[in-house]
Parts: sequence; structure tokens; C-alpha cells
Amino acid sequence: MRIVHCALDLRAAVDAARAAGDSIAFVPTMGNLHAGHHSLLHRAREHAGFVVASVFVNPTQFGPNEDFARYPRTPEADAAGLAAQGCDLLFLPGVDEIYPLGAEAAVRVHVPGVTESLEGAIRPGHFDGVATVVAKLFNLVRPDVAVFGQKDYQQLLVIRRMVRDLAFPLEILAAPIVREANGLAMSSRNQYLDAATRDRAGAIHATLLAMQAAIHAGTMQRDQIEAMACAQLEQAGFLPDYAVLRRADDLSEPVGDERAGLVALIAARSGRTRLIDNLLIR
Ligand code: AMP
Repeated sequence: MRIVHCALDLRAAVDAARAAGDSIAFVPTMGNLHAGHHSLLHRAREHAGFVVASVFVNPTQFGPNEDFARYPRTPEADAAGLAAQGCDLLFLPGVDEIYPLGAEAAVRVHVPGVTESLEGAIRPGHFDGVATVVAKLFNLVRPDVAVFGQKDYQQLLVIRRMVRDLAFPLEILAAPIVREANGLAMSSRNQYLDAATRDRAGAIHATLLAMQAAIHAGTMQRDQIEAMACAQLEQAGFLPDYAVLRRADDLSEPVGDERAGLVALIAARSGRTRLIDNLLIR
């Protein structure tokens, strides 16, 4: 696996792969890679001869009181893991490479609609930062396909919308959520949790499953299910930001008693750590 730090070297490597007849798959990440990230890489490999990953902790998607400074940065371990997983090229840019005029002065990409609720409401500007950096990375890498995790469900919808609206010439693939044995969705932020909290955090997935079971049973109203979910999270020692049922295609509120095509989404805090998870209701 080759590692490049600047756009010029990235271009040269991608162009060479393309000239050799390979299609290009891209997996953008913020590093501190775990089995969830590696699963995206495998999905990428199914679709392309040349797999590019990026590791960039993007300052513009963190709010002023968020964990940008303490976000875990492990570039050596990330590179070793990616190489072991068969990644062809790792793009490891500095902030100047992505935001040459400074992060504050950068052109911003704003996706309306789907960014306004849930994470977008709680983390103002977060999705502008995400859309901006992903647009920039797409223009630098110019992949045929890019793989995103369903773990960040709203982000996936934001990226799909951006790609469609701005006519990026690539396909977005979604990869399922990879979980710990207790159901906790793998996340770089899990390591902020002590062992006991990590154990208890299995309650988040259990709550999503309970929401799904309640939908299937058909005896509770949607707001009752959401209230039950919040209570269940609180009982496990988590402070829910939200535990909701939304339409899976655009995250709008279901009308009436709609019970198909839904997704259950949770954001919950334990101390300073905020965890998100979701489940597409079958
Ligand atoms: P991050 O490094 O957290 O920005 O995540 C990079 C990509 O990996 C995003 O597309 C995430 O949705 C995806 N991802 C993170 N955690 C998981 C997981 N547990 N399972 C599947 N995909 C994940």
C-alpha cells in the first residue's frame, strides 16, 4: 500500500491505476480505524480494482465544544490495518492540503432538508462540514464508487443527496453497521467509555430492537414507542438526545400510522461521550 499526503501524488497514483484499467473505489474516514471501517474497505474491493482510503480528521465538521482536539489520531496503526486489509492507496492529507485558504475561509457545501433535523439540529454546521470535505475529497480522488457506513445514517442520506444534486459522477454504496458482541455499534468514540459503560452501551442496540419489535407488534403509537425507548436508555444510564422513528428515505416524520419504510435512530450521551446508532425496520 502506498501512502500519499498531497493532491498531486494522489492524482498521479489514481491516474496510473485508471490507465492500467482499474476502476476506483474510495473509503473516506477520520481514522482510528476499527472493524467497521475495514468492512467498508471489503465492500469497496468488491466493486473496484483499486481501493483508496483517506484518513482526515476534518475540523469543519466539529462544533466549537466538540471533541476535535481529543479525537483519537492513530495514523501508524491505521496505515498498518489498511495495508493488511488490502487497501491500495492511503491519502493522509494535512489540513492545509484540504483547506489551502484556511478552514474558516473555505467554500461550504450546504445540503438543505435532510440536514435540518436530528444530528443537524443538535450539531449546527456539522453536515456543512461533512458535505464540504466529502465534495473536496471526491474531486481529489475522482472515484467510480465511494462507500459509506449505515452507522451514520443521516450522513449517508446527506451524501447521496449531494451527489445527486451536484451530479458527482460516482455511485454511493452503503455498508451495514458492524457491532461489538454486546450490540454496541463500533465507533472511534467508544474508547472514551470505561469498561462498565461500554458494557451498558449494549442497551442502545437493545433499545433499537425493542422499537422494531413494538412496530411489529402494532399495539403502540409511534410517540409511545419513542417514549419507551427514551425510558429504556435512561434506565441504562444514558441521556437520550433523541430516540425516534422516521421515514428511512428522507428522515421526515411518518404520517399517521405508517409502519413500513421506517428507520429507528438514537443519539445518547454518557458523560461527555455521545453515541449514535440506528436500525432499518424490517
Ligand atoms: P468515521 O471515521 O467515523 O468518520 O467513519 C468513516 C466511515 O466509516 C463512515 O462512512 C462511517 O459511517 C463508517 N463507519 C463507522 N463506524 C462504522 C461501523 N460500526 N459499521 C460500519 N461502518 C462504520
